[in-house]
Amino acid sequence: MTITRRGFLSASAGFAAMPVLRAAAAPLPREVDIVVIGAGAAGIAAARRVMAANRKVVVVEAASQIGGRCITDTTTFDVPFDRGARWMHNPETNPMIRLARNAGFDVVPAPSGQKMRIGRRNARAGETEEFLAALVRANRAIDEASRGKLDTSCASVLPKDLGDWAGAAEFMLGASFAGKDLKELSAIDKARAQDRNAAIGCRQGLGTLISKLGEQAPVALSTPASRIVWSNRDVSVETQSGKIAARAAIITVSTNVLTSGAIKFAPDIPKRTLDAASKLTLGSYDHIVMQLPGNPLGLSRDDILIEQSNSTRTALMCANIGGSSLCSIDVGGSFGRDLSEQGEKAMVAFAKEWITKLFGSEAAAAVQKTSVTRWNASPLIMGAMSASSPGGQLSRKVLAEPIGNVFLAGEATHETLWGTVDGAWESGERAADAALRKIGALKDEPADVPTQSTKRRRAPRQ
Ligand SMILES: Cc1cc2nc3c(=O)[nH]c(=O)nc-3n(C[C@H](O)[C@H](O)[C@H](O)COP(=O)(O)OP(=O)(O)OC[C@H]3O[C@@H](n4cnc5c(N)ncnc54)[C@H](O)[C@@H]3O)c2cc1C
Repeated sequence: MTITRRGFLSASAGFAAMPVLRAAAAPLPREVDIVVIGAGAAGIAAARRVMAANRKVVVVEAASQIGGRCITDTTTFDVPFDRGARWMHNPETNPMIRLARNAGFDVVPAPSGQKMRIGRRNARAGETEEFLAALVRANRAIDEASRGKLDTSCASVLPKDLGDWAGAAEFMLGASFAGKDLKELSAIDKARAQDRNAAIGCRQGLGTLISKLGEQAPVALSTPASRIVWSNRDVSVETQSGKIAARAAIITVSTNVLTSGAIKFAPDIPKRTLDAASKLTLGSYDHIVMQLPGNPLGLSRDDILIEQSNSTRTALMCANIGGSSLCSIDVGGSFGRDLSEQGEKAMVAFAKEWITKLFGSEAAAAVQKTSVTRWNASPLIMGAMSASSPGGQLSRKVLAEPIGNVFLAGEATHETLWGTVDGAWESGERAADAALRKIGALKDEPADVPTQSTKRRRAPRQ
């Protein structure tokens, strides 16, 4: 049975009113042109691209909702908060910002830069300057090392004289940027990462935005792909609701899910691909969200605050999210991983201890409702964002190589925007174009849907 595109669209429009029932009710087509695995940013971007080329597509998603690492929680607090990605970056090149505006979302830039706390006081202007200078020197050292013959860890090339700012610089460039400590991070990968300037939020939530952008796509929720049979001619994707025959497949699951073996391949997925994924494992990054009514910290809307730290036991705070009383204490890297493993109670205890250290016990006493994320424990994601181990940067390109008629997408396949939502989005569009070309559905780049490669992007830092 082949379901027409119109059939898909009307079915998904009906499901949109009842997003959870959509999962159980969606009949899986037996045949499509392209099947997409995963309905995160990459999967939705890929599906939209295939639909724009007038080809039949279905997205199979293991979770009960669209979004993957972009999920907006609208029930825990009285304002929406993003449990995964929160910020879009690079407004001059990021296509998602335009899509958000066109879809009627309130796109709100956060104040630029971050505030620095030194114990119980704010850093003086001169101290903030010193910190920024330390950050520039650390970045420069990593950039220089990345031009060497052999890749190395970011930690090994940091200037040794960053003094009191070493801890904060390491936190900002490692745990906070990529979810890994600098000793686990490739200098080349870090140096090639495109600047993520400006933090731009979406009042309704980034997860809500991805769901909205996926509204017209035929998505079968709660439908994990369990086995993929592939060749150079076609692909078959097996799920508990049936088998889908397709001419090509686009896989967008995270690197940790790919290497976990949760999806079986016949023939086996090439070792080269698995090796690449295993050099791009996910770092750890979590939000500990607290309701702090009355602004006891005296911070502004979306203020970002870090501390002068001398250990990895530190955090980044996003205060008064979107003008609400919610503050998120974000933890990452090895410290964040250990903490999240200990569970919600330990995470909230740390966040209160951190606020007490920086603002006093009255501030911590004002905390009301809390909620934490634990992305490493989510079996469908297993971490936060891919970060290359030393020597692994080329793996991003390898991961994006087609395997017969199977195309891999997702943030980890993006050489410069890895770890971001717009990197995931662009990778989904690229994989869709490649799959469409492979099945003969796309000769040249369609005039009405320019690929990201034709758009102006800021060159990666050298
Ligand atoms: C806490 C946190 C904060 C972040 N902050 C930011 C930020 O501020 N800005 C930013 O740009 N980025 C941020 N990121 C990173 C960003 O969220 C990701 O880079 C991006 O969302 C990844 O999208 P993706 O489509 O590649 O993968 P995913 O979102 O992981 O999508 C993959 C999908 O595959 C599904 N899946 C898994 N197994 C199967 C299966 N067997 N069958 C079918 N489906 C399956 C999953 O459920 C998931 O929906 C953050 C991430 C985290 C965790």
